[in-house]
Amino acid sequence: MLTRKEVSQLFSDSEHLLEALREANALTLKHHGSCVTLERALFLSWWCSVASCAFCYMAKQRERQGNAERAKRAPWRILAEAELLRRLGWEVEYLSGGYGAYSLEELRLIAEMVALVVRSRVWLNVGVLGAEELEQLRGAVEGVTGSVECVNEELRRRIVPGKPLPAIKRFLENAGEMGFATGITVILGLGESTADTSALLELIAELELDRITIYALNPHRGTHYENSPPPASLYQAGVIAAVRLSFPGIKIISGTWVDQLPNIGVALLAGANGITKFPLFSMFGTRHGRKVEEEVRHAGRELLGTFSDLEVLRGGRALEPERDPRRVFRRSRPEVSRETVAKLKHFRPRIERAVEEYVEKVLRNC
Ligand code: SF4
Repeated sequence: MLTRKEVSQLFSDSEHLLEALREANALTLKHHGSCVTLERALFLSWWCSVASCAFCYMAKQRERQGNAERAKRAPWRILAEAELLRRLGWEVEYLSGGYGAYSLEELRLIAEMVALVVRSRVWLNVGVLGAEELEQLRGAVEGVTGSVECVNEELRRRIVPGKPLPAIKRFLENAGEMGFATGITVILGLGESTADTSALLELIAELELDRITIYALNPHRGTHYENSPPPASLYQAGVIAAVRLSFPGIKIISGTWVDQLPNIGVALLAGANGITKFPLFSMFGTRHGRKVEEEVRHAGRELLGTFSDLEVLRGGRALEPERDPRRVFRRSRPEVSRETVAKLKHFRPRIERAVEEYVEKVLRNC
């Protein structure tokens, strides 16, 4: 793991940063090969019982949604999105969507149905779960995520007061001991400094994480950050490189919004294996979707899945096996209840109609 002095050097001048990128790129190719995944969080609802994170759009939504029940997405729409992700060769980054929206039983059911549709166990990002809850989700869940957001303690007290780090750490340690893969999310640009990168590395080491998602701040209107600039591309690349150099085997997902697409290439050179945070249905097949593909190509990487192939989107042709992450990577098959299979069958006509609606929406944009 990089020392505090090495982290400080990495951010001290462009020569050190370029050297870090060169080493991180070589390490990534050695440990992970050249494949890059397209990732998408599947949102379950617009409700969140925490609703106090200073950067979060959903914290604002809660005032409008009124109650958890009304804020839930229709299950067939979630499943239609899962169906399209599988068709397009995208990864379900995790099931997400605020805390406290679903009962454990509802969560188990939707996680199992999504896992059946994508033919693979899924990750969750739904807050802190206890051991008994995790045990009940085991058949459909491969990994769990802690929304750390930032590691600077003083900043955490102000901007994520409802998500105390000790509870997240206990949850991830426990999940790891139970055999689940574990990961965290962080957001760059919240007011942290480059020196906080060392604390981030220490946290990854302490929790022995399998995966990290490093988002760039997307300043949402109506939040504390609406007039804040997103973080510099080279700062995000520096943090990714520090993580890659310290943990060669970890999966790194880099998150950039549609107005930050040129950051993708350098994030990949810095060590990202996956990219996320795209509005799939408004970008697919457009110049923005193709721009993502170009960024990956010019970084010397091979993109799994597609951001532009309309025939694959329509279901007229299957994705080539060598571009399908479900063929390229080993998957653990879900184990689900009979009730889940029956429920999925029951929803099937509505899922098909929702798939058609999403496809038509994309085609209208192209
Ligand atoms: S816990 Fe997640 S969904 Fe809820 S307010 Fe915070 S960031 Fe938003």
